[in-house]
Amino acid sequence: MPRRSDPAVAASSRWTDDEGVREPGGSVHAWRPGTNQTLCGLPLHRAGLERFPHVLWIDARWLADTTDERMVLCHRCAAAAGDRPGRRRWTRERPRP
Ligand SMILES: [Zn+2]
Repeated sequence: MPRRSDPAVAASSRWTDDEGVREPGGSVHAWRPGTNQTLCGLPLHRAGLERFPHVLWIDARWLADTTDERMVLCHRCAAAAGDRPGRRRWTRERPRP
């Protein structure tokens, strides 16, 4: 069942994976494309956050578990995105830019 508009992410830094895809790093927040603030209410501009419309929040959670890069996921955004502990249903999608 597709869920209604999964949020993408905005983050304070970036790194590039071995396929050359830009990935979020540093402090990572959930963000809905078309808005200019994170789900926890941070204004992207003022907080210096970069948008990653190609990276879904659920993918960022997966990445944070599997990468050596420093990624700190925002707990308030996790709550706002409706994440529940124990629910692990990742879909790995990587649309090309
Ligand atoms: Zn946040």
